[in-house]
Amino acid sequence: MIKTVGILGAGQLARMLAQAGRPMGLKFIFLDPAEDSCAAEFGQHICADWDDEVALRQLAQLADVVTFEFENVPDSTAKLIESLCPMYPPTRALFRSQDRIREKFMMQELGIPVAPFQAVSSRPDLIAAVEKIGLPCVLKTRRFGYDGKGQFVLRFEEDMERAWQELGDHQLICERFVRFDIECSIIAARGKDGETVFWPLTHNLHRDGILSISRAPAFDQALQAKAEALVLRLLDHLDYRGVMALELFLKDGELLANEFAPRVHNSGHWTIDGAQTSQFENHLRAVCGLTLGSTQNSFRTLMFNLLGEMPEYARQSAEQQSIPGVHWNDYQKSPRDGRKIGHVTVCAESETGLRAKAAQLAAELGVAAELNLAAVLKN
Ligand code: AMP
Repeated sequence: MIKTVGILGAGQLARMLAQAGRPMGLKFIFLDPAEDSCAAEFGQHICADWDDEVALRQLAQLADVVTFEFENVPDSTAKLIESLCPMYPPTRALFRSQDRIREKFMMQELGIPVAPFQAVSSRPDLIAAVEKIGLPCVLKTRRFGYDGKGQFVLRFEEDMERAWQELGDHQLICERFVRFDIECSIIAARGKDGETVFWPLTHNLHRDGILSISRAPAFDQALQAKAEALVLRLLDHLDYRGVMALELFLKDGELLANEFAPRVHNSGHWTIDGAQTSQFENHLRAVCGLTLGSTQNSFRTLMFNLLGEMPEYARQSAEQQSIPGVHWNDYQKSPRDGRKIGHVTVCAESETGLRAKAAQLAAELGVAAELNLAAVLKN
């Protein structure tokens, strides 16, 4: 029986995994080079670099199974761990997700619709790609991009040189700019014997490439079924184990895949308070070989990401429990501009109740939250 779970990374995702796993009787051991890692208070923290072989061997020896909280785990780190102890999700999923071109080719092969794309590794490649794909388009680094970093939107031909100056040192992908109606994500968990469960398709609003608000449930059964079918192709193809998130664009009723994450995902944080089993608990259930829990939503939910620093109102509200059904999650990270430091989820039984509570909360959080809420409720 699995007692100790090792996690590569000790940020907020690892923290929430441990918070979900401790009541299940699991112990946690994290490896992360950052001394002030916010998951550390929930287990043993090996503070070491990703290429520290002695530390990696220690992690593999102490853990019964290892998982990861981010997709940029270096190849050599993942391969070493995998050779020493069970690791889920499998490295084939991890490695595919690390390279946007390989990820997109795989989706294409599986019949998952994606925006037209081209690999770019030189100025002539870029010119040819823009000619083929058309403007506007998005130039992205193939690797290590996250939260909109390493991306450049080209609207005019003159943007090509500036985009090249900014990103030309990297291997790149050029994609058609999708004029989507809505962004959404489907999160699924696949267990030991291929048992698969899905949470309701979540409506996401990004600002400056960073997730701002998620709302679930937000779509009808027909779209839910389409999204489930797409992520299921990935899960089965990769013989996957764990939680996966597939980010999608919705345009004229059709879904186009953007990228998948082989891990628990920011757009699934609402499941902690709003679903019968959270994405964190089911990820642990999957990697530990346990039966998966029900993903049925218990409430209608809206999750606001908190960036930079926790609002004063969060502390007051947590102390006074001033709005019932509002759940604060402070990751205990030191404040920094644009940093994800917490989230707050609003839960209600009715749509009217959800809107009223969310509006009250957004008014306390400030103008940006109010505008984002209005945008997410528009549809
Ligand atoms: P990514 O790092 O690929 O998830 O991109 C971050 C955000 O940039 C996405 O959530 C979208 O809001 C936007 N974005 C990325 N790719 C495209 C695209 N091809 N067309 C339009 N918007 C995009």
